[in-house]
Amino acid sequence: MDIRKVGVVGAGTMGHGIAQVFAMKEYDVTLVDHEKDNLAKAVKMINLSLDKLVEKGRLANAVRMEIPKRVRTSTDLKALDRCELVIEAVTEKAEVKKEVFQQLDKICPKETIIATNTSSISISKLGAFTKRPGRVIGMHFFNPPVLMELVEVIRGIDTSQKTYDEARRVCQRLGKTPVEIKDFPGFVANRLSIPLINEAIFVLMDNIATREEIDTVMKLGMHHPMGPLELADFIGLDVVLHIMENLYEEYEDSKYRVCPLLKKMVEAGHLGRKAGKGFYEYDENGRKK
Ligand code: NAD
Repeated sequence: MDIRKVGVVGAGTMGHGIAQVFAMKEYDVTLVDHEKDNLAKAVKMINLSLDKLVEKGRLANAVRMEIPKRVRTSTDLKALDRCELVIEAVTEKAEVKKEVFQQLDKICPKETIIATNTSSISISKLGAFTKRPGRVIGMHFFNPPVLMELVEVIRGIDTSQKTYDEARRVCQRLGKTPVEIKDFPGFVANRLSIPLINEAIFVLMDNIATREEIDTVMKLGMHHPMGPLELADFIGLDVVLHIMENLYEEYEDSKYRVCPLLKKMVEAGHLGRKAGKGFYEYDENGRKK
């Protein structure tokens, strides 16, 4: 199947970036979110990101001007009824994704691939919410999708070979490197990186070092491009919490216990860069104060 029409559900941190990546490779993109304001914000973020690419000389202005025209937005999932591939990027909660998967299954043609950008929820479980588990797959993009080269491609128990081959080809067309991963909680990237972030929050809570010192240790000592607390703010503390909770629930192993300080910050609404406040403070353009 030649995939040209792509839907993205959820226009948050990841959804708007995924929509941009597809539009930059000339796919027709429909971006859906149940919050109108989030769609407006997503379009603004896409334009800001394209401007930055032009400024850096990585994109010609004439090409840049065409890209947003390929992204239409809607608050109605029915706008995805002609898509050949839909990527779900809504909130990292199984019950929220279940509702979206069940609706997409009714709306989209039966050959449409329903992919999920989930960080930690089982692909097999999401597939079972539909009548087409063979056409359900994980396509886990990294933040920010425009710059990060990797996509973890995760096969659920029932994902067909055809679906896997098509998803892999799409990643290659986007200029990304797909890596095949089995369907186990956290896959590879988050199973390694999220417990590291959680442990850094324990280090902060135990007053072993300040936020800056913790981040400096990992940047200068381990050559990480960002410290774990900066990275947590960048990902979103609610997303980090949901992933940790999923790892803990699925593996039933105490090594994945959530740091109480992480829970407290999410309860207080200190969700990181998107909320203007997390471990650090940010201005309205997401720049650290
Ligand atoms: P986010 O909170 O920034 O955005 C989620 C968006 O989904 C919001 O705009 C919300 O309005 C929308 N939404 C929620 N329920 C909806 C529904 N029923 N219908 C339509 N829209 C709905 O979240 P995010 O950080 O973009 O994460 C999205 C997914 O991507 C999650 O599964 C997350 O685990 C995964 N992910 C996140 C990152 C990251 O760094 N943030 C990286 C890789 C993968």
